Amino acid sequence: MKCTIRNSGAAVIEIVFPSRCVVCGDFLDDGISRPFCMNCLSGFHLIASPHCTRCGIPFSDLQGEDHLCGKCLSSEQFFSMARALGRYEDTLMTAIHTFKYGRNIPVGTALGRMMACGTYGGLSLEDFSLILPVPLHPKRLRERGFNQSGILAREIARKQSLSVDYESLERTIDTEPQTALRKTERSRNIRGAFNVRNRHTIKGKKILLIDDVFTTGSTVRECARVLLANGAEDVAVLTLARALYHKH
Ligand SMILES: [Zn+2]
Ligand SMILES: [Zn+2]
Repeated sequence: MKCTIRNSGAAVIEIVFPSRCVVCGDFLDDGISRPFCMNCLSGFHLIASPHCTRCGIPFSDLQGEDHLCGKCLSSEQFFSMARALGRYEDTLMTAIHTFKYGRNIPVGTALGRMMACGTYGGLSLEDFSLILPVPLHPKRLRERGFNQSGILAREIARKQSLSVDYESLERTIDTEPQTALRKTERSRNIRGAFNVRNRHTIKGKKILLIDDVFTTGSTVRECARVLLANGAEDVAVLTLARALYHKH
């Protein structure tokens, strides 16, 4: 897999496949294959330093250094680190909606390849021995037909020559869709929703947990809590996008 992502003022992303922009559908005819056309690329915003060393939230003061944010200083996160490729807005938000709600798997595959090619401050993909997607409840899986996090995880695992573990973590309670709830309700709502099925496969492992969007972090925090309680050595989180509309 050939890939280059440079995090500078003008983001440069080069990935072999696909030949059309995954957002607007325009042909990518400038000789370099990337998932977005130049027009849509201008609406794609990589997450960059300075950011929180634990939860990865970018700080608005661009001159500062990476440090712990107020939320991570004052509350237990369970995951050792969370990082995301880009901001959940504009181009990336449209692409994720096309993937999830438009059920467009090739778009998800392209996004997963972008994730696999990203660089993340303090997080190296090769440090992990187990890749777990955040599971959907079986009812939601039947409705959608696929687990979006599983498709992203597959591309990351492929880059690291690992396989995705779809089995060890399961969602046993079908909570209300998180987007319909307020931030405080989200943490309450998710508690106890996940279960470790194969304890021996996660014991002592350094786990990379994959999800599509990090919003308040309550879902991945609960997954990390359950995995650590069942013997995982470390749980880090990688998401495609990071929603930034709540203040820290
Ligand atoms: Zn486009
Ligand atoms: Zn933080």
